Amino acid sequence: MDKPTLAIIVPCYNEELCIQHTCHILLDLLDSLIDKNKIKNDSFIYLVDDGSVDNTWKIIEELHKENKRIKALKFVRNFGNQKALIAGLEGVRNIGCDCTVSIDADLQQDENVIEKFVDEYLKGADIVSGIRNNRKTDSFFKKVTALMFYKTMNILGAKIPPNHSDYRLVSKRVLDIMELYPEKYLFLRGFFNELGLKTVYVNFGVKPRFAGKSKFNFMSLMTLALNGITSYSVVPLRFVAVLGFFMAFFGFVVGIETVIEKIFWHNSPNGWATAIILLCVFGGIQLFCLGLIGEYVGQVFREVKARPRYIKDVELK
Ligand code: UDP
Ligand code: MG
Repeated sequence: MDKPTLAIIVPCYNEELCIQHTCHILLDLLDSLIDKNKIKNDSFIYLVDDGSVDNTWKIIEELHKENKRIKALKFVRNFGNQKALIAGLEGVRNIGCDCTVSIDADLQQDENVIEKFVDEYLKGADIVSGIRNNRKTDSFFKKVTALMFYKTMNILGAKIPPNHSDYRLVSKRVLDIMELYPEKYLFLRGFFNELGLKTVYVNFGVKPRFAGKSKFNFMSLMTLALNGITSYSVVPLRFVAVLGFFMAFFGFVVGIETVIEKIFWHNSPNGWATAIILLCVFGGIQLFCLGLIGEYVGQVFREVKARPRYIKDVELK
């Protein structure tokens, strides 16, 4: 395979403390890969400013002035990390590249692994996915919720490898296929996984964030997880139907038993407590199931409106 033009996508949200340092490191990395004759010298960095409210964009403009290999896109407001990544993938495709890697602005992912990604690409892989060696830098809470999410996704049929991250290389072929997916709330991890193109997994080490704070909170992680589940599985809906069937069956059997008891033994069943408990349990299950169906209705609602995924403010090419 010919040596590729590589684009490195970096989503940035309020990363004024990181972005300059990150760009210098990534430029050095591009230079070293060019020297090793692994990528073409028009390879570039593509920063997506996800509506930062600090000095991130100012710094990006400076960086772009100094070096045209740093290109950038700014959103009018914050649209979230997934949208920033999608915009990055679409942006580098428009500018022109053969393959692209996405990496976080805090360089928590070991950037030197990009060389291995490129090696795998040169050997013919369309997707090279980074798998974390460990989750040492994550809080206990994040470890547990992440594990639960991957287990749930696997049970539901979307086989996403655990400790997967948005650190990956994809080829131009994948970018072209992405164009065919009109979903506004495309869940990238599910999408890449479902394509069935040649995928290679490469382990990488995780470092602590070198400056600033994590931009994710519980709600944003929950939203991401729910979007992942409702985009890639209808198993929960079937589960509701099966659960409903068994609950109705149970009620039917208990009803018959009560009638028989009344006819043959003249026993009036007592047990207010039992009745109240069952009422609460079944009422709760029903509301839970309604909420679950509601998530899917919400997904349809958002997709049907077909609002733009993000709105561009400025692009520096
Ligand atoms: N990010 C973004 N938009 C957001 C939140 C985060 O573009 O609304 C970017 C952020 O700047 C970083 C990456 O997504 O480059 C990962 O975020 P962070 O490092 O805060 O997440 P964590 O490492 O804690 O999962
Ligand atoms: Mg981080």
